Amino acid sequence: MTAAASPDVQRVGARIGVFGGAFDPPHNAHLALAKAALKQFGLDALYIIPTGQAWHKSRELIAPRHRLAMTRLAFEDMLRVVVDDRELQRAGPTFTIDTLRALQAENPQARLYLFIGADQFAAFRQWNRWEEILELAIICIADRAQSTLAQAQFEAYPEYSKHFFKLQLPLMPVSATQIRQMMASGVATAEAIASLVPEPVARYISLHQLYSSR
Ligand code: ATP
Repeated sequence: MTAAASPDVQRVGARIGVFGGAFDPPHNAHLALAKAALKQFGLDALYIIPTGQAWHKSRELIAPRHRLAMTRLAFEDMLRVVVDDRELQRAGPTFTIDTLRALQAENPQARLYLFIGADQFAAFRQWNRWEEILELAIICIADRAQSTLAQAQFEAYPEYSKHFFKLQLPLMPVSATQIRQMMASGVATAEAIASLVPEPVARYISLHQLYSSR
């Protein structure tokens, strides 16, 4: 595990955020979401967790070491953020519920907040043991251009209405797919994607020639 800071989360009522993703690559919307999460929910710590081979992504992700390195670079300057590689260490498919259970066991006094984009929320009922996730964590959802949040989606969980919050974040149309496609099609140089990813990530992509032959 790498810590950009060493947040003290052992006290009663500490708030721990959890933000998972393929981060293939991490991009500016991920950073904006993390900043908004820390601020809006007054988090004591935010765990950024690159996923292993996520069960819901059929595409093969690039090597874990690259995604971890880029995630560390992307978040290195953000206070109270911990880049945590536990899911990359786990063999087989990774499930959010297992990570939440582990974090709760490590921090029994803390309250967990799980951050996801609206595209993930749309498929939330397909997540492994989603009811257990709702029992364990507050779910905070960021709107996404391609998958706009609708009130009806919240109403689909009447018994859990107090378990959901909307993250206040302006729509950011960037996606990792778009960045990979730009690189693969050759229409974009590393400079061109520099407006979509943090600068050290753009440099890393260029140095390791990621995505260009895919
Ligand atoms: P891909 O295009 O490969 O599916 P992605 O851009 O969605 O990737 P992920 O690493 O899969 O990036 O996303 C991690 C989390 O961040 C998910 O919960 C996703 O919904 C959220 N997220 C990603 N991009 C945005 C965005 N532009 N606005 C809001 N949330 C986002």
